[in-house]
Amino acid sequence: MPSTGGAMPSVAVIGGGFAGLAAAHQLKRHGYSFTVFETEDGPGGTWRVNRFPGAEVDTPAPMYSFSFAPYDWSRSYPGQAELQSYLEHVADRFGLRAHFRFGTTVRRLVWEEDGQRWAVHLDTGEVLRFTAVVTAVGLLNVPNEPAWPGRELFTGDIFHTARWRSDVALDGRRVGVVGTGSTSAQIVAELGGRAKHLTVFQRQPAWVDPKVSLPFTEKERARRRHPVTRRLIRWRLFLQLERKWLGGRIIRPGGTVDTRAVKICQDYLAEVFADHPDLRAALTPTSAYLGKRAIHSSTFYPTLLRDDVTLVPHAVERVTETGVVDATGREHELDVVITATGFRAAEFLCGLEVHGRAGRDLREKWGDDPMAFLGIMVDEMPNLFMMYGPNTNYYAPVFNFEQQAKFVVRSLREMRRRGASAVEVRPEAVRRLNRWLKRRLDASSFAQAPNYFRSASGRVVTQWPDGASVYWLLTRTLHARSARFFRAPSASDSPDNRHLSVP
Ligand code: NAP
Repeated sequence: MPSTGGAMPSVAVIGGGFAGLAAAHQLKRHGYSFTVFETEDGPGGTWRVNRFPGAEVDTPAPMYSFSFAPYDWSRSYPGQAELQSYLEHVADRFGLRAHFRFGTTVRRLVWEEDGQRWAVHLDTGEVLRFTAVVTAVGLLNVPNEPAWPGRELFTGDIFHTARWRSDVALDGRRVGVVGTGSTSAQIVAELGGRAKHLTVFQRQPAWVDPKVSLPFTEKERARRRHPVTRRLIRWRLFLQLERKWLGGRIIRPGGTVDTRAVKICQDYLAEVFADHPDLRAALTPTSAYLGKRAIHSSTFYPTLLRDDVTLVPHAVERVTETGVVDATGREHELDVVITATGFRAAEFLCGLEVHGRAGRDLREKWGDDPMAFLGIMVDEMPNLFMMYGPNTNYYAPVFNFEQQAKFVVRSLREMRRRGASAVEVRPEAVRRLNRWLKRRLDASSFAQAPNYFRSASGRVVTQWPDGASVYWLLTRTLHARSARFFRAPSASDSPDNRHLSVP
């Protein structure tokens, strides 16, 4: 369904995971010319890169998939390989693969005022020009690698979970896993019993609730393939989750939803560690349920009870030739150290240099406080759209990607309708929305504990504080009202008047 108005803008999409595919699907549907730049050699994004043992999603598949691309899932919580296959399937089914440039990394974006377009600098040295850019690089893509003193001395192997080394043997060796987030929980459960001894280093615990992840029977799969059942299941899941998130109920510390969730986790702790009060105490968080990202696992806690697994409830402080030293000064001899230390989530677009209007450097503009309009647009950055930008992380990222992709297409269509060549969010719209976000988030569970949600400024910059329906409504209603449109300067414009607003 091509739009009406001026020439169709060309669009560069950076990243070919869930978000990039959502953008590509919308752009294709509306007849845009676009290229998806992807560093890896195929689509999949985070699910292509994160190949650690046990990697699987925590959100039930019917919610963790596109509304436009249902799938015959083998289980409710699919693993990495199946999720990657799904994303490859989406790329093929909707003819998106032909728009990809694999093995290509975008390094730099520079807005060119005269041409009203972005110069997209690639790692190959090429510079290509596009009317608009959609960044879809993910939230959890740049590993947070601890800069421990002595790292270079270690004679064993040390690597981050997102840079998994399948060439490093783990079976029968002394393995240390540093960190106890969702990634660690999955790896620990896989390595317990495989490693000669597994040592798990925990700085601060998160709440863990049990998760049953079983394959579907053939009969169940057939039932779920029926389009009506499929829709009903998706809607039921959506309503269940939305009931908790709408109005920020789940992130109100001490509120009904929070208290109920904490109680489930406390009961689970009490049940698994009934005979191990020390472990139970060490694993009990002091924050609200979502002070840290909650872990959903029925295998993590039982693994910690094994004789060949030790929980060290202390941070790692330094590395020696033969192991690591924890915060109490005790050394642990290890053959392999796996850093499950998360990602630099609060440093949005940190792998990309972006210069917007008048050369404005996005990194300088943000400093320690990245903020955007609905996580999508930033003032002074015309025709730049982010997927999974600041304050859009919560239970429904894939739903959000679809809304963000539609927002992009609506904005570009409006730009063409007005005969404009650029669209930019109004700074006051960014400020207003972020004042509301800050009010909600400062009082939320997210602000309670150390976590990856907060930037160096202390503000919660990754999380969305409300339901999916609120995000949907705001992306539908605010886009044109919060934007301003510009037309390309012409030769007859005076130098003082080269930037004309279009009503
Ligand atoms: P994470 O939640 O940020 O956890 C990182 C862990 O490393 C924390 O326990 C942290 O301790 C610890 N840590 C960081 N630096 C450390 C240091 N210098 N010494 C000792 N410990 C240190 O990262 P993640 O587990 O990779 O998960 C990130 C996100 O990925 C999740 O929140 C989730 O959104 C996503 N994910 C999802 C799934 C799934 O769907 N199943 C699976 C994996 C990941 P502190 O807590 O004390 O900071």
